[in-house]
Amino acid sequence: MALFARCPKPDPTPAYELLPQELYPETWTPEGLSVPWRFGNRHLSVTLVYASADDTRYPSYAVACLGCPYKASRALSGDRILRQDEAVELANSHASTCNALGNPVPERPDDESARTLLLKRLVELQQVRGARPINPEVFLGDRLELQRDDTWIRDVLLHTAEASPELLRAEPSPYAEGGFLFHGQPILGADTPTGA
Ligand SMILES: [Zn+2]
Repeated sequence: MALFARCPKPDPTPAYELLPQELYPETWTPEGLSVPWRFGNRHLSVTLVYASADDTRYPSYAVACLGCPYKASRALSGDRILRQDEAVELANSHASTCNALGNPVPERPDDESARTLLLKRLVELQQVRGARPINPEVFLGDRLELQRDDTWIRDVLLHTAEASPELLRAEPSPYAEGGFLFHGQPILGADTPTGA
């Protein structure tokens, strides 16, 4: 009988796995976006100020906290896009009061899940706001969930317009060779003004 229990061999695998550097909330840049500002709360949860990486001329900005559901992509007054200084102010004031603990970055959805999310949002937008121009900018508030760039969003919109013209109409853009403008169609039963 052994008098002393043997010490177990040390496990060569660490109890945690190191993430690739780009997946830390402090440094994460979601696909298709630029992140000019980040604010940490006192528990090191991160609030991002971001814009589309493709929207470099007159970018509109959005704010999202990685620790809690807070996000903003429209100015409360006038329901218009956010300028960078407005987004920075919202993010700073959110981070100063948010008590969320630091969370890992959200998982990137597969193509089918991202497409389903985009189309669900498209229908919601048209139900709330009626027929309207649709472009990647209107999905700015969903980009941390989508994790796709503007080109991917435009491709899905084009396929949707071809498959479901009752939902979305596409016409060649006079501004960009090979580009399209998209128009959401009125959804039956939605509370939209008829002009009658
Ligand atoms: Zn928060």
